[in-house]
Amino acid sequence: MQEIPLIDHHCHGVVTKELTRDALEALMSESYRPPAPGTTQFQKPLGLAIRRHCAPVLDLEPLASADDYVARRMALGADEVNRRLLAASGVATHLIDTGHRALEISSPQQFAALSGHAAREIVRIEAVAEEVAAAGCGAADYPALLAEALRERGSRAVGFKSIVAYRTTFRIEQTAPGHSEVIAAAGRWLAASAGRRARLEDPALIRHGLWSAAEICRERRLPLQLHVGFGDPDVYMHACDPTHFTDFLRDMESWGVAVTLLHNYPFVREAGWLAEIFQNVYYDVGAILNFTGASSTRIMRDALELGPFTKQLFSSDAFGLPELHHLGVVLFKRALGTVLDEWLRSGECTVKDVEEIFAAIAHGNAARIYGLG
Ligand SMILES: [Zn+2]
Repeated sequence: MQEIPLIDHHCHGVVTKELTRDALEALMSESYRPPAPGTTQFQKPLGLAIRRHCAPVLDLEPLASADDYVARRMALGADEVNRRLLAASGVATHLIDTGHRALEISSPQQFAALSGHAAREIVRIEAVAEEVAAAGCGAADYPALLAEALRERGSRAVGFKSIVAYRTTFRIEQTAPGHSEVIAAAGRWLAASAGRRARLEDPALIRHGLWSAAEICRERRLPLQLHVGFGDPDVYMHACDPTHFTDFLRDMESWGVAVTLLHNYPFVREAGWLAEIFQNVYYDVGAILNFTGASSTRIMRDALELGPFTKQLFSSDAFGLPELHHLGVVLFKRALGTVLDEWLRSGECTVKDVEEIFAAIAHGNAARIYGLG
């Protein structure tokens, strides 16, 4: 069971240049700011998990000190550290979101070469919209140009992703906006951005991008990923409960579009419930297993509480650091294996059930909905 090849359905590339200690620590947090004065990013569950599970891959004793870990990392160099930690993860296929700080991290092609694993692209809708605007266009042309760009980028990808939760929260109108509403909003946005790349946060344009990509998903049977909960600081967490987005999820169900809810912390139970009632809803607990480290099994227990086993997906949500890719796999396998083993020992399921559930969440569900054979 531990040898089962995984599909990491949501992750990002790694930084390929050498990292200073400060740069390394910055990538150990979703915060935009350094840790509190006099503290380090190693002084939290993720820091312990890196020292426990990544140190041995760099030839150190488990739980080597943070200073020794950083020194060893620098002595080996970025290439070797990336290669070792990515190869050790044993992932068969990575689905890579290319829409976040893309110039600072490896492309899917570079990532495939570094890891020796297959890598496919997920296109971030809001990033494509910002590229279209930055390339310069008039408001009247914006809808057609965006549709064309999404279609072109989507032709090589296995899915789309939206970060509507970051940009507007889920407490917005969820229908597709009317044409005149889009043109008016595009006019305001393009005038304000004046040829520079400007952050897209107008609710009408966010909805327009989402529905434009959803149409392509409907035609091509591609999943649509939605960021939920834990992530960058620019999230108003209380308004990112995915149950606020029920109307959109229901509309996508009627279109037959699979929607995959990413991360979901602290709304893990809500995500499991949505996956139970909507035919098209899937969910993962990526990122948060890494950030909860020693306590990650408890998160997995919640994730397995109600949601169908055919609806949960594996994701590391690793960004920048190969440590996060490696830990994503180690902690996922440990958490899922531990909970299923408890069920087996208490007579709640058979060995065959355990194998089937593990295989479905590790790769079978993702292979089915992303068409990965
Ligand atoms: Zn992510």
